[in-house]
Amino acid sequence: MQFKQDYFEQLEGFYSQVYPLPISQPHWLAWSDDAAKLIGAQRGQLNAQGDDELLMQLSGNHPMPGASYYAQVYSGHQFGGYSPRLGDGRSIILGEALANPQPTSVPHGHATAWDVALKGAGPTPYSRSGDGRAVMRSAVREFLASEALAALSIPTTRALAVIGSDLPVWRESQETAAITVRLAKSHIRFGHFEYFCHSGQGGKDKLIQLLNFTIKQHYPHLSQDYQGYKAWFTQVVKDTAMLIAHWQAAGFAHGVLNTDNMSILGDSFDFGPFAFLDTFKEDFICNHSDPQGRYAFGQQPGIGLWNLQRLAQALTPVIESDDLVAALNTYQAELVQQYLLLMRAKMGLSVSEQTAVQAQEQDKTDLDLIGRFCHVLQHNLLDYTNSFRAFGQLDVTSGHANISDEIIDRPQFDDWYKSYQQRVGKLDDIDQWQAQRNSVNPKYILRNYLAQEAIVAVEEGDKSKLLELHTLLTQPYAEQPELDHYANRPPQWGQGLIMSCSS
Ligand code: AMP
Ligand code: MG
Repeated sequence: MQFKQDYFEQLEGFYSQVYPLPISQPHWLAWSDDAAKLIGAQRGQLNAQGDDELLMQLSGNHPMPGASYYAQVYSGHQFGGYSPRLGDGRSIILGEALANPQPTSVPHGHATAWDVALKGAGPTPYSRSGDGRAVMRSAVREFLASEALAALSIPTTRALAVIGSDLPVWRESQETAAITVRLAKSHIRFGHFEYFCHSGQGGKDKLIQLLNFTIKQHYPHLSQDYQGYKAWFTQVVKDTAMLIAHWQAAGFAHGVLNTDNMSILGDSFDFGPFAFLDTFKEDFICNHSDPQGRYAFGQQPGIGLWNLQRLAQALTPVIESDDLVAALNTYQAELVQQYLLLMRAKMGLSVSEQTAVQAQEQDKTDLDLIGRFCHVLQHNLLDYTNSFRAFGQLDVTSGHANISDEIIDRPQFDDWYKSYQQRVGKLDDIDQWQAQRNSVNPKYILRNYLAQEAIVAVEEGDKSKLLELHTLLTQPYAEQPELDHYANRPPQWGQGLIMSCSS
């Protein structure tokens, strides 16, 4: 691994230097070969004491050559209210590791460098009353979620590893600490801009400095002037819309969409009480601290816009309101178009060349068809992922649809199915059509109960389930017959699990 230090060297005043606190008995709990390839990281190289040196470095016990060690400052809107100063309370960034020239590439995964952050490495000036640590269960959940989303081609930060330890930490009860080694193209959040707008720390100059840095690092095709700023914000709106469309199509709920958890690059970021839906439920809430459902699954598109509005507000010293509003106004259409693209692929709805008016009509019809299918799922308490996977065996010409096996309200389904058959029309090659469905509808997703089972096993000293689950999720579309049970709906205890925020 080779580091550069652009953020550290060019953005003084945007972070505090802070070193990790050593941790006792570090050991690898999980490791992602795919993420390691992005930066050419190699474990297993032993030092003079016979320890894995990378493990020692990433646990904070030995210094990492070329690292700078810093925690970034930012603020953010949490559950609708503004918190004027948050910052990395338990995450320490080592710097930007240069990308391996031949990384495994996933869509949205291209980068010339990846921030390496140790999440749970000890207190920082931003820890407030927190201990700066992360508990094993939350470290494992972040690891699995990052790698599972990447394998589904959903924009996301990555996780290189989870390092376990025997350090006790207190939450509702005693647990053990762990560190997630996170890779991110950037750790800049909406909240960074909010902090430098609202805090009085350097005002407009600092805001422009941050904006220029962001553009130079991540949008090199844009200019660092007014035209560039406008184009940049429009791009942020687009990337955010794209991210949320991906979540809605995959049935993923983030759970804590505060503006400090929104990556400026539109990556899934800062995982807490997230969930992939099992039974489809539009208003599913996965976060125990969100009884009102502000961040319920179906609220995410609206919250994405609300968060962008907060970012826009923070940019008003630099970008004219009219230009910000014009960019915000593109959000809904971007989201709908991206969502339609993904859902049409899932359901096998092809679109031929059309005039603009015809395309508009087609969009409306298809949104209605998709919406009605989601209604069927919700009404009949069906599993989101498995219902879509069934399209891969569907003979659309047949009156009997395998996707209807668990339907209770038959007339409602038949009504929808007739419209669907009409829309799909005649297929030249049904095998190919089915194979295409299987290439976009995953068989295996990170169900909360599966994560929970793996975590309980780790607590009991067995990490084989975690390794098996991680390996499975790197190939979510492939049939893996010996691991078929991982596609099962949750048992009674694992249905609608609501996770606690305390991590
Ligand atoms: P999160 O809910 O994980 O997005 O965290 C919100 C804020 O609380 C961020 O500023 C975190 O750095 C901080 N935070 C969360 N947990 C801890 C902890 N155990 N110790 C210190 N700070 C924390
Ligand atoms: Mg956070």
